[in-house]
Amino acid sequence: MKSERKAGFGTVAIHAGQAPDPTTGAIMTPVYMTSTYVQEAPSKTKGYDYSRSHNPTRTALEQNLAALEGGRFGLGFASGMAAIHCVLNLFRSGDHVIAGNDLYGGTFRILRTLYEKFGLETTFVDLTDLAQLRAAFRPNTRLVMLETPTNPLLRCCDLQAIAKICRQQQVLTLADNTFATPYLQNPLALGCDIVVHSTTKYLGGHSDVVGGVLVSNDPDLHKQLTHFQNSCGGTPGPMDCFLVLRGTKTLHVRMDRHCDNAIKVAKWLEAHPRVERVIYPGLPSHPNFALAKKQMKKGGGMVSVELKATVAQAKKVCSSFGVFSLAESLGGVESLVDHPASMTHASIPAEVRRATGLQDGLIRLSVGIEDADDLIADLDQALRRLK
Ligand SMILES: *Cc1c(COP(=O)(O)O)cnc(C)c1O
Repeated sequence: MKSERKAGFGTVAIHAGQAPDPTTGAIMTPVYMTSTYVQEAPSKTKGYDYSRSHNPTRTALEQNLAALEGGRFGLGFASGMAAIHCVLNLFRSGDHVIAGNDLYGGTFRILRTLYEKFGLETTFVDLTDLAQLRAAFRPNTRLVMLETPTNPLLRCCDLQAIAKICRQQQVLTLADNTFATPYLQNPLALGCDIVVHSTTKYLGGHSDVVGGVLVSNDPDLHKQLTHFQNSCGGTPGPMDCFLVLRGTKTLHVRMDRHCDNAIKVAKWLEAHPRVERVIYPGLPSHPNFALAKKQMKKGGGMVSVELKATVAQAKKVCSSFGVFSLAESLGGVESLVDHPASMTHASIPAEVRRATGLQDGLIRLSVGIEDADDLIADLDQALRRLK
């Protein structure tokens, strides 16, 4: 008799959506490099007719990611932005969106410079303040779009409380879970309607693929999203799906190391005389520490640091690392450093950036899974440039 017990995260990560190949027994899901599928008779298929609509490698990935988020349905995309774009197609001119005010720069950009011209208006609010959220609702509000922890200020908003408010208002919630990953936090279980990931980051985990995913539970919602996925065509190729699927097999192991290294780095930085403030959800000094502890398993792999430095000095520090690489993106095995004001968040106007608390001297670390001692030694020598 098969056991009824629920498999743990690591087992799901390695096995969900994947079975040995029925023809050869290959343990790894094959990369189905095909655009079309032979039909026995017109419309008599084996479930696949054209690879924009469906591809077996993508199916495996979609099922795997849905299982990791504890959701029913997964949809794969060519990028995180393609996934977010798919969700925005649910709305029409005259509808209203409420979004967090320190979202990923690309999300801010698609709402502000693209959807606004089609008549979809967005109000940006600080979602850590539920009063601000409540005040922003209008009769035509259809979506609340949130990130937690946010990028790069790592603010945490209350998923359960926001989902509850949205349910009362009959408004959908879209949670970008890229920073936390399904290993640390599951927004669907806390009441959110849709989860989006840039699989480019921790899920892929090796800085070698760009991709996105949506996970949801409601069959009607999933049907609409599937229609947009196929109609707009921002789907990933089979090789991209394979790479993400390979990445998710080690997600739990990598995340544990990312988190262990990040807390060590954060504590070391907090004691450094040239550091104004360390922002890390796993540190008691973080303003949302209690909430982060409640809804996240650990603090994550991202650490932001406000240096006692001018912009020029902050840029100099960013260019002085030996182990950390100066690059956009995050979530790979290797450590990266970013200067948001001049790199990832440069598309946000300077006055908007400063108003939301993003200082020019802030640097963002994506703490990798190298040895923590080497990362700290590298930070030590780079911060000496400030003397
Ligand atoms: C990178 C990122 C995105 C966009 O994903 P792409 O794969 O680059 O299109 C969206 N949200 C967050 C939080 C991200 O870090």
